[in-house]
Amino acid sequence: MKLRIPRDVKVGDKVYTVHYSPGEFIVDKDRCHGLCDTATRRISLNSEQPPDMLQLTFLHELTHAILWESGHKRLFRNEALVDHISTLLHGALFK
Ligand SMILES: [Zn+2]
Repeated sequence: MKLRIPRDVKVGDKVYTVHYSPGEFIVDKDRCHGLCDTATRRISLNSEQPPDMLQLTFLHELTHAILWESGHKRLFRNEALVDHISTLLHGALFK
């Protein structure tokens, strides 16, 4: 089953919009394929990723948004946890 990545995604009572741009993003000197900006409620994805990777990156950024909007602001920054949850979600839903 393919994951359709929505243009807007509800996270609780907030709406995040999904944007695409080519190339990697640099955050704190780390290269990444996506960003989750909680201030603007914007999820940005590297449009140059293969489709399977794009889905995984979307779920990764969505997991960041879910943690933030559910009040887990320290866990929001825990990349290992976010990676683990989003990888399991991807495997559960789309493999
Ligand atoms: Zn992350």
